[in-house]
Amino acid sequence: MSCSSSSASEEDEDFDSYRKGGYHAVRIGDSFAGGRFIAQRKLGWGQFSTVWLAYDTQTSKYVALKIQKSAPEFVQAALHEIEILSAITENDPKNEKCVVQLVDHFKHRGPNGQHLCMVLEFLGDSILHLIRYNRYKGINLNKVREMCRCILTGLDYLHRELRILHTDLKPENILLVSTVNPSKDPIRSKTPPILERPEGSLTGGAAVNVIEKKLKQRARRAVAKIAAERRGGVPEPKPERCLDGIDFRCKIVDLGNACSVDKAVAEEIQTRQYRAPEVILQSGYSFPVDMWSFACTAFELATGEMMFAPKPGPGFSEDEDHLALMMELLGKMPRKIAIGGGRSKDYFDRHGDLKRIRRLKHSSLSRLLIDKFKFPETDAREFAEFLTPILDFDPENRPTAQQCLQHPWLRQTETKTG
Ligand code: ATP
Ligand code: MG
Repeated sequence: MSCSSSSASEEDEDFDSYRKGGYHAVRIGDSFAGGRFIAQRKLGWGQFSTVWLAYDTQTSKYVALKIQKSAPEFVQAALHEIEILSAITENDPKNEKCVVQLVDHFKHRGPNGQHLCMVLEFLGDSILHLIRYNRYKGINLNKVREMCRCILTGLDYLHRELRILHTDLKPENILLVSTVNPSKDPIRSKTPPILERPEGSLTGGAAVNVIEKKLKQRARRAVAKIAAERRGGVPEPKPERCLDGIDFRCKIVDLGNACSVDKAVAEEIQTRQYRAPEVILQSGYSFPVDMWSFACTAFELATGEMMFAPKPGPGFSEDEDHLALMMELLGKMPRKIAIGGGRSKDYFDRHGDLKRIRRLKHSSLSRLLIDKFKFPETDAREFAEFLTPILDFDPENRPTAQQCLQHPWLRQTETKTG
């Protein structure tokens, strides 16, 4: 359900969803909760909500205002999310557990119905944005380590202290504590808050800005295309992005699909590429599913590429391709695991071999890191030693977040490659 959300600058939400039961249309300067919160700009959106930077006139701080669609199923989902966020916030009074905090919540009535609104602490860009910003190059391992420490701190808190599964961990659902571009951060850029709807424009300028931005983007692309054609079709290599000055601390967000471990009933959980084998095979699941998604996320941060990007092919499904990709990288799945799930018979024969994908190209994590991603040997070996146990096909063998936090790779402070 959460595969397609994005931040405002990348794509926009489906405008057909601005109807009864759908999103609430927000204009810059709109006020909420009896005038307490004033909308400043859109931060992002998901299938359930749009999220706005808002100014809290009571505390003079910025917050993120998540405005849920209004149909009953979305209201129900928001109530559930509020319950989980409240537990997260109440049990972390010092705000040090790397999971987003709930400041407040209220109802807002608009033309499309009554919307539950969550007031969240304002965070920065997602680490998916960071990966894109870095042009899918792979981020320096010391920075990856810092982000991994935060994500694991958050997971350890959710799992061990609250007994909650996230079930949708992925780069999009992990936010940096601040923005990549300092001018987008109202505090660092010292932009004064907007306190009322700007005059002269029905849209408060927001839609105009989006159109202007899109036109500029299109113009830039056209210029680049002409320049490339002049060079005989070879696109100009883009310079490397400098990541200096970025705060790499991050927090887990989007608890919309989270659930208490003893109420984990949904069959299909997790976004495809981050989905654990026991979910595909329907063997039952628990905390280790989040650990699997964590390992996929850490790999993506360090390489700029998804660890598994399955596709259906002639005679096999996306699930089968996914299982094949896992076995090519991690070795053969133990027979007990392969044949032990509710859906095993669809994919595996009784020997534990895939029925429809017979020839697998075996590799290993460290070989892949060296050959494809050009990691120095020591870095590749150490990083692979950290990730491999978390990618154990047997969920019971996977280390917990608490155990991962003790791993030597995470405790290293500097590497030779910097
Ligand atoms: P999904 O379809 O992913 O379930 P959703 O409607 O539940 O989405 P979120 O994923 O919680 O919404 O938020 C959507 C987007 O809004 C995020 O990807 C992010 O860009 C932005 N966002 C969410 N929370 C915050 C926050 N606290 N601070 C800054 N931006 C945020
Ligand atoms: Mg999301």
